[in-house]
Amino acid sequence: MTDSTTSAPSTTTPRRVAMVGLGNMGGPMAANLVKAGHSVTGFDLVPAALEAAAAAGVTVAASGAEAVREADIVITMLPAGRHVLSAYQGSDGVEGLLAAAQPGTVFVDSSTIDVADARTAAAAAAAAGHRALDAPVSGGTVGAAAGTLTFMVGATDEDFAEVAPVLSAMARKVVHCGASGAGQAAKVCNNMILGVSMIAVSEAFVLGEALGLTNEALFEVASNATAQCWALNTNCPVPGPVPTSPANRDFAPGFAAALMAKDLGLAANAVSASGVDAQLGLAAAQIYTQLAEGDRAGQDFSTVINVIREHSAAKTTS
Ligand code: NAD
Repeated sequence: MTDSTTSAPSTTTPRRVAMVGLGNMGGPMAANLVKAGHSVTGFDLVPAALEAAAAAGVTVAASGAEAVREADIVITMLPAGRHVLSAYQGSDGVEGLLAAAQPGTVFVDSSTIDVADARTAAAAAAAAGHRALDAPVSGGTVGAAAGTLTFMVGATDEDFAEVAPVLSAMARKVVHCGASGAGQAAKVCNNMILGVSMIAVSEAFVLGEALGLTNEALFEVASNATAQCWALNTNCPVPGPVPTSPANRDFAPGFAAALMAKDLGLAANAVSASGVDAQLGLAAAQIYTQLAEGDRAGQDFSTVINVIREHSAAKTTS
Protein backbone atom coordinates (compact mmCIF):
# COMPACT_ATOMS: atom_id res chain seq x y z
CA MET A 1 0.00 0.00 0.00
CA THR A 2 1.36 3.39 -0.97
CA ASP A 3 0.45 6.32 1.21
CA SER A 4 1.04 9.58 -0.57
CA THR A 5 0.48 12.68 1.51
CA THR A 6 -0.17 16.00 -0.12
CA SER A 7 2.68 17.74 -1.84
CA ALA A 8 2.49 21.48 -2.53
CA PRO A 9 0.18 21.85 -5.53
CA SER A 10 2.47 24.47 -7.08
CA THR A 11 5.12 21.77 -7.71
CA THR A 12 2.64 19.64 -9.71
CA THR A 13 2.92 19.55 -13.50
CA PRO A 14 -0.23 21.20 -14.90
CA ARG A 15 -2.55 18.68 -16.55
CA ARG A 16 -5.68 18.90 -18.69
CA VAL A 17 -8.37 17.57 -16.39
CA ALA A 18 -12.05 17.02 -17.19
CA MET A 19 -14.48 16.96 -14.24
CA VAL A 20 -17.86 15.39 -15.02
CA GLY A 21 -20.34 16.01 -12.19
CA LEU A 22 -19.98 19.45 -10.59
CA GLY A 23 -22.35 19.00 -7.63
CA ASN A 24 -21.73 19.43 -3.91
CA MET A 25 -18.45 17.53 -4.14
CA GLY A 26 -17.35 17.83 -7.78
CA GLY A 27 -17.83 21.62 -7.91
CA PRO A 28 -15.41 22.51 -5.11
CA MET A 29 -13.02 19.73 -6.17
CA ALA A 30 -12.82 21.25 -9.65
CA ALA A 31 -12.22 24.68 -8.10
CA ASN A 32 -9.25 23.30 -6.14
CA LEU A 33 -7.79 21.78 -9.31
CA VAL A 34 -7.98 25.21 -10.97
CA LYS A 35 -6.28 26.80 -7.93
CA ALA A 36 -3.46 24.24 -8.24
CA GLY A 37 -2.80 25.38 -11.80
CA HIS A 38 -4.50 22.61 -13.79
CA SER A 39 -6.51 23.35 -16.91
CA VAL A 40 -10.00 22.13 -15.95
CA THR A 41 -12.95 21.57 -18.27
CA GLY A 42 -16.21 20.59 -16.60
CA PHE A 43 -19.72 19.43 -17.32
CA ASP A 44 -22.88 18.90 -15.30
CA LEU A 45 -26.53 18.47 -16.27
CA VAL A 46 -27.57 21.29 -13.91
CA PRO A 47 -27.05 24.87 -15.22
CA ALA A 48 -26.48 26.31 -11.71
CA ALA A 49 -23.60 23.87 -11.18
CA LEU A 50 -22.05 25.01 -14.47
CA GLU A 51 -22.37 28.67 -13.49
CA ALA A 52 -20.69 28.10 -10.13
CA ALA A 53 -17.89 26.14 -11.80
CA ALA A 54 -17.33 28.86 -14.40
CA ALA A 55 -17.06 31.43 -11.61
CA ALA A 56 -14.32 29.26 -10.07
CA GLY A 57 -12.31 29.25 -13.30
CA VAL A 58 -13.52 25.97 -14.83
CA THR A 59 -14.02 25.97 -18.61
CA VAL A 60 -17.59 24.83 -19.09
CA ALA A 61 -18.28 22.32 -21.88
CA ALA A 62 -21.55 21.73 -23.74
CA SER A 63 -21.59 18.00 -22.90
CA GLY A 64 -19.62 15.36 -21.05
CA ALA A 65 -18.14 14.20 -24.34
CA GLU A 66 -16.96 17.75 -25.15
CA ALA A 67 -15.43 18.06 -21.68
CA VAL A 68 -13.26 14.95 -22.06
CA ARG A 69 -12.18 15.22 -25.72
CA GLU A 70 -8.85 16.95 -25.03
CA ALA A 71 -8.32 15.74 -21.44
CA ASP A 72 -5.35 13.77 -20.08
CA ILE A 73 -7.33 12.82 -16.97
CA VAL A 74 -11.13 12.47 -16.61
CA ILE A 75 -12.60 12.60 -13.11
CA THR A 76 -16.25 11.61 -12.61
CA MET A 77 -18.09 12.69 -9.44
CA LEU A 78 -21.62 11.34 -9.99
CA PRO A 79 -24.40 10.13 -7.68
CA ALA A 80 -24.32 6.33 -8.19
CA GLY A 81 -22.95 3.42 -10.23
CA ARG A 82 -25.65 3.60 -12.89
CA HIS A 83 -24.77 7.25 -13.62
CA VAL A 84 -21.09 6.38 -13.98
CA LEU A 85 -21.75 3.42 -16.28
CA SER A 86 -24.19 5.36 -18.47
CA ALA A 87 -21.88 8.41 -18.63
CA TYR A 88 -18.94 6.17 -19.61
CA GLN A 89 -20.85 4.17 -22.22
CA GLY A 90 -23.39 6.76 -23.42
CA SER A 91 -27.14 6.29 -23.63
CA ASP A 92 -30.17 7.55 -25.57
CA GLY A 93 -28.06 9.10 -28.29
CA VAL A 94 -25.71 10.83 -25.81
CA GLU A 95 -22.08 10.16 -26.72
CA GLY A 96 -20.24 8.24 -24.00
CA LEU A 97 -17.11 9.60 -22.33
CA LEU A 98 -15.07 6.53 -23.25
CA ALA A 99 -15.80 6.96 -26.96
CA ALA A 100 -15.09 10.70 -26.88
CA ALA A 101 -11.74 10.66 -25.06
CA GLN A 102 -8.33 10.31 -26.70
CA PRO A 103 -6.94 6.74 -26.55
CA GLY A 104 -5.00 6.11 -23.33
CA THR A 105 -6.84 8.74 -21.27
CA VAL A 106 -6.80 8.11 -17.51
CA PHE A 107 -10.34 7.76 -16.12
CA VAL A 108 -10.70 8.36 -12.38
CA ASP A 109 -14.09 7.67 -10.81
CA SER A 110 -14.36 9.40 -7.44
CA SER A 111 -18.08 8.72 -6.94
CA THR A 112 -19.04 6.27 -4.19
CA ILE A 113 -20.39 3.27 -6.10
CA ASP A 114 -20.80 -0.47 -5.81
CA VAL A 115 -17.53 -2.43 -5.91
CA ALA A 116 -18.99 -4.55 -8.74
CA ASP A 117 -19.97 -1.41 -10.74
CA ALA A 118 -16.48 0.02 -10.17
CA ARG A 119 -14.93 -3.11 -11.66
CA THR A 120 -17.39 -3.05 -14.61
CA ALA A 121 -16.59 0.62 -15.27
CA ALA A 122 -12.83 -0.06 -15.16
CA ALA A 123 -13.20 -3.03 -17.53
CA ALA A 124 -15.26 -0.93 -19.98
CA ALA A 125 -12.62 1.80 -19.90
CA ALA A 126 -9.84 -0.73 -20.52
CA ALA A 127 -11.81 -2.31 -23.39
CA ALA A 128 -12.10 1.16 -24.96
CA GLY A 129 -8.30 1.60 -24.81
CA HIS A 130 -8.13 3.76 -21.68
CA ARG A 131 -6.75 3.40 -18.15
CA ALA A 132 -9.14 3.45 -15.20
CA LEU A 133 -8.92 3.97 -11.45
CA ASP A 134 -11.49 4.04 -8.67
CA ALA A 135 -10.74 6.83 -6.21
CA PRO A 136 -13.67 7.46 -3.83
CA VAL A 137 -13.25 10.05 -1.11
CA SER A 138 -14.08 10.73 2.49
CA GLY A 139 -14.15 14.14 4.12
CA GLY A 140 -17.52 15.39 2.85
CA THR A 141 -18.36 18.79 1.38
CA VAL A 142 -16.20 20.56 3.97
CA GLY A 143 -13.19 18.51 2.90
CA ALA A 144 -14.02 19.04 -0.78
CA ALA A 145 -14.06 22.82 -0.30
CA ALA A 146 -10.94 22.90 1.89
CA GLY A 147 -8.97 20.49 -0.31
CA THR A 148 -8.54 18.08 2.61
CA LEU A 149 -10.26 14.95 1.27
CA THR A 150 -8.88 11.45 1.74
CA PHE A 151 -8.71 9.53 -1.57
CA MET A 152 -8.83 5.72 -1.47
CA VAL A 153 -7.40 4.56 -4.78
CA GLY A 154 -7.69 1.26 -6.65
CA ALA A 155 -5.14 1.33 -9.48
CA THR A 156 -1.96 -0.13 -10.95
CA ASP A 157 1.27 1.31 -9.50
CA GLU A 158 1.93 3.19 -12.74
CA ASP A 159 -1.53 4.79 -12.92
CA PHE A 160 -1.42 5.67 -9.23
CA ALA A 161 1.93 7.42 -9.67
CA GLU A 162 0.52 9.47 -12.56
CA VAL A 163 -2.69 10.51 -10.85
CA ALA A 164 -1.65 10.99 -7.21
CA PRO A 165 -0.10 14.46 -7.78
CA VAL A 166 -3.38 15.67 -9.34
CA LEU A 167 -5.52 14.18 -6.58
CA SER A 168 -3.22 15.80 -4.02
CA ALA A 169 -4.54 19.22 -5.08
CA MET A 170 -7.87 18.17 -3.53
CA ALA A 171 -6.58 16.07 -0.66
CA ARG A 172 -4.87 15.79 2.66
CA LYS A 173 -4.17 12.13 2.01
CA VAL A 174 -4.09 9.89 -1.08
CA VAL A 175 -3.88 6.18 -0.26
CA HIS A 176 -3.13 3.44 -2.80
CA CYS A 177 -5.34 0.59 -1.55
CA GLY A 178 -4.59 -1.99 -4.26
CA ALA A 179 -5.79 -2.92 -7.73
CA SER A 180 -9.00 -1.82 -9.47
CA GLY A 181 -11.98 -1.86 -7.06
CA ALA A 182 -9.80 -1.65 -3.94
CA GLY A 183 -10.65 2.02 -3.37
CA GLN A 184 -14.39 1.33 -3.30
CA ALA A 185 -13.74 -1.72 -1.11
CA ALA A 186 -11.87 0.44 1.42
CA LYS A 187 -14.65 3.04 1.34
CA VAL A 188 -17.47 0.56 2.08
CA CYS A 189 -15.46 -1.14 4.84
CA ASN A 190 -14.62 2.20 6.48
CA ASN A 191 -18.22 3.38 6.35
CA MET A 192 -19.53 0.07 7.67
CA ILE A 193 -17.30 0.54 10.74
CA LEU A 194 -18.52 4.13 11.09
CA GLY A 195 -22.22 3.30 10.70
CA VAL A 196 -22.10 0.43 13.17
CA SER A 197 -20.01 2.35 15.70
CA MET A 198 -22.42 5.31 15.67
CA ILE A 199 -25.32 2.98 16.48
CA ALA A 200 -23.30 1.33 19.27
CA VAL A 201 -22.38 4.72 20.79
CA SER A 202 -25.98 5.92 20.53
CA GLU A 203 -27.41 2.77 22.15
CA ALA A 204 -24.92 3.17 25.00
CA PHE A 205 -25.95 6.79 25.67
CA VAL A 206 -29.65 5.87 25.67
CA LEU A 207 -28.92 2.94 28.00
CA GLY A 208 -26.82 5.20 30.24
CA GLU A 209 -29.68 7.70 30.45
CA ALA A 210 -32.10 4.87 31.37
CA LEU A 211 -29.69 3.79 34.12
CA GLY A 212 -29.52 7.31 35.54
CA LEU A 213 -26.03 8.11 34.22
CA THR A 214 -25.34 11.62 32.94
CA ASN A 215 -24.15 11.94 29.35
CA GLU A 216 -21.13 13.89 30.60
CA ALA A 217 -20.08 11.07 32.94
CA LEU A 218 -20.43 8.40 30.27
CA PHE A 219 -18.51 10.54 27.77
CA GLU A 220 -15.73 11.25 30.28
CA VAL A 221 -15.25 7.54 30.89
CA ALA A 222 -15.84 6.06 27.43
CA SER A 223 -13.95 8.70 25.40
CA ASN A 224 -10.84 8.01 27.49
CA ALA A 225 -11.32 4.26 27.75
CA THR A 226 -11.58 1.33 25.36
CA ALA A 227 -14.81 2.59 23.72
CA GLN A 228 -13.13 5.62 22.18
CA CYS A 229 -13.80 6.07 18.45
CA TRP A 230 -14.62 8.86 15.98
CA ALA A 231 -18.39 8.40 16.46
CA LEU A 232 -17.95 9.11 20.17
CA ASN A 233 -14.91 11.37 20.48
CA THR A 234 -15.58 13.64 17.47
CA ASN A 235 -19.17 13.21 16.29
CA CYS A 236 -20.75 12.58 19.71
CA PRO A 237 -24.54 12.04 19.25
CA VAL A 238 -25.53 13.92 22.43
CA PRO A 239 -25.12 17.69 22.83
CA GLY A 240 -22.57 19.01 25.31
CA PRO A 241 -19.47 16.85 25.55
CA VAL A 242 -18.12 17.72 22.06
CA PRO A 243 -19.28 21.27 21.24
CA THR A 244 -18.55 20.91 17.49
CA SER A 245 -20.60 17.73 16.98
CA PRO A 246 -23.85 17.96 14.92
CA ALA A 247 -25.96 17.07 18.00
CA ASN A 248 -25.27 20.63 19.25
CA ARG A 249 -26.91 22.19 16.17
CA ASP A 250 -30.08 20.11 15.77
CA PHE A 251 -28.16 17.47 13.82
CA ALA A 252 -27.37 19.73 10.85
CA PRO A 253 -24.92 17.65 8.77
CA GLY A 254 -22.07 16.69 8.83
CA PHE A 255 -22.68 13.54 6.96
CA ALA A 256 -26.34 13.13 6.10
CA ALA A 257 -28.25 10.02 7.17
CA ALA A 258 -29.34 9.49 3.53
CA LEU A 259 -25.69 9.29 2.41
CA MET A 260 -24.89 6.83 5.20
CA ALA A 261 -27.88 4.73 4.09
CA LYS A 262 -26.55 4.76 0.53
CA ASP A 263 -23.03 3.76 1.60
CA LEU A 264 -24.25 0.98 3.90
CA GLY A 265 -26.47 -0.28 1.07
CA LEU A 266 -23.27 -0.64 -0.97
CA ALA A 267 -21.61 -2.38 2.00
CA ALA A 268 -24.60 -4.74 2.29
CA ASN A 269 -24.30 -5.60 -1.43
CA ALA A 270 -20.61 -6.37 -0.95
CA VAL A 271 -21.37 -8.44 2.19
CA SER A 272 -23.97 -10.51 0.30
CA ALA A 273 -21.78 -10.96 -2.78
CA SER A 274 -18.82 -12.13 -0.71
CA GLY A 275 -20.75 -14.34 1.72
CA VAL A 276 -19.22 -12.65 4.77
CA ASP A 277 -21.08 -13.05 8.09
CA ALA A 278 -21.46 -9.32 8.87
CA GLN A 279 -24.62 -9.29 10.97
CA LEU A 280 -24.05 -5.88 12.52
CA GLY A 281 -23.20 -4.31 9.15
CA LEU A 282 -26.43 -5.66 7.63
CA ALA A 283 -28.49 -4.56 10.65
CA ALA A 284 -26.93 -1.09 10.45
CA ALA A 285 -27.79 -0.89 6.74
CA GLN A 286 -31.44 -1.59 7.58
CA ILE A 287 -31.52 0.95 10.42
CA TYR A 288 -30.09 3.77 8.25
CA THR A 289 -32.35 2.83 5.32
CA GLN A 290 -35.42 3.29 7.57
CA LEU A 291 -33.94 6.52 8.91
CA ALA A 292 -33.37 7.81 5.37
CA GLU A 293 -37.00 7.10 4.45
CA GLY A 294 -38.26 9.44 7.18
CA ASP A 295 -38.17 13.14 8.02
CA ARG A 296 -34.62 12.96 9.36
CA ALA A 297 -32.97 11.88 6.06
CA GLY A 298 -31.19 15.22 5.70
CA GLN A 299 -29.91 15.30 9.28
CA ASP A 300 -26.47 14.13 10.33
CA PHE A 301 -26.37 10.32 10.64
CA SER A 302 -25.81 10.68 14.42
CA THR A 303 -29.54 11.47 14.55
CA VAL A 304 -29.89 7.68 14.71
CA ILE A 305 -29.83 8.25 18.50
CA ASN A 306 -33.27 9.89 18.18
CA VAL A 307 -34.66 6.78 16.50
CA ILE A 308 -33.24 4.64 19.31
CA ARG A 309 -34.79 6.98 21.90
CA GLU A 310 -38.20 6.80 20.18
CA HIS A 311 -38.13 3.01 19.89
CA SER A 312 -37.03 2.75 23.54
CA ALA A 313 -39.85 5.06 24.68
CA ALA A 314 -42.37 3.02 22.68
CA LYS A 315 -41.14 -0.16 24.39
CA THR A 316 -41.36 1.25 27.91
CA THR A 317 -44.89 2.60 27.39
CA SER A 318 -46.28 -0.56 25.71
P1 NAD B 1 -24.53 15.79 -5.99
O1 NAD B 1 -25.86 15.19 -6.26
O2 NAD B 1 -24.44 17.10 -5.29
O3 NAD B 1 -23.70 15.91 -7.37
C1 NAD B 1 -23.77 14.99 -8.41
C2 NAD B 1 -23.82 15.79 -9.70
O4 NAD B 1 -23.75 14.90 -10.82
C3 NAD B 1 -25.14 16.57 -9.86
O5 NAD B 1 -24.84 17.96 -9.96
C4 NAD B 1 -25.75 16.02 -11.14
O6 NAD B 1 -26.42 16.98 -11.92
C5 NAD B 1 -24.50 15.49 -11.85
N1 NAD B 1 -24.77 14.51 -12.90
C6 NAD B 1 -25.55 13.40 -12.86
N2 NAD B 1 -25.48 12.72 -14.03
C7 NAD B 1 -24.62 13.43 -14.82
C8 NAD B 1 -24.12 13.24 -16.14
N3 NAD B 1 -24.48 12.19 -16.90
N4 NAD B 1 -23.24 14.15 -16.62
C9 NAD B 1 -22.86 15.20 -15.88
N5 NAD B 1 -23.29 15.43 -14.61
C10 NAD B 1 -24.17 14.55 -14.10
O7 NAD B 1 -23.72 14.66 -5.19
P2 NAD B 1 -22.37 14.88 -4.33
O8 NAD B 1 -22.72 15.15 -2.91
O9 NAD B 1 -21.47 15.79 -5.08
O10 NAD B 1 -21.79 13.39 -4.37
C11 NAD B 1 -21.14 12.86 -5.52
C12 NAD B 1 -20.58 11.50 -5.16
O11 NAD B 1 -19.67 11.64 -4.07
C13 NAD B 1 -21.65 10.49 -4.71
O12 NAD B 1 -21.32 9.23 -5.22
C14 NAD B 1 -21.53 10.52 -3.18
O13 NAD B 1 -21.93 9.31 -2.57
C15 NAD B 1 -20.04 10.77 -3.01
N6 NAD B 1 -19.67 11.41 -1.73
C16 NAD B 1 -20.40 12.44 -1.26
C17 NAD B 1 -20.04 13.01 -0.03
C18 NAD B 1 -20.84 14.17 0.54
O14 NAD B 1 -20.63 14.48 1.72
N7 NAD B 1 -21.69 14.82 -0.25
C19 NAD B 1 -18.94 12.54 0.68
C20 NAD B 1 -18.18 11.51 0.13
C21 NAD B 1 -18.56 10.94 -1.08
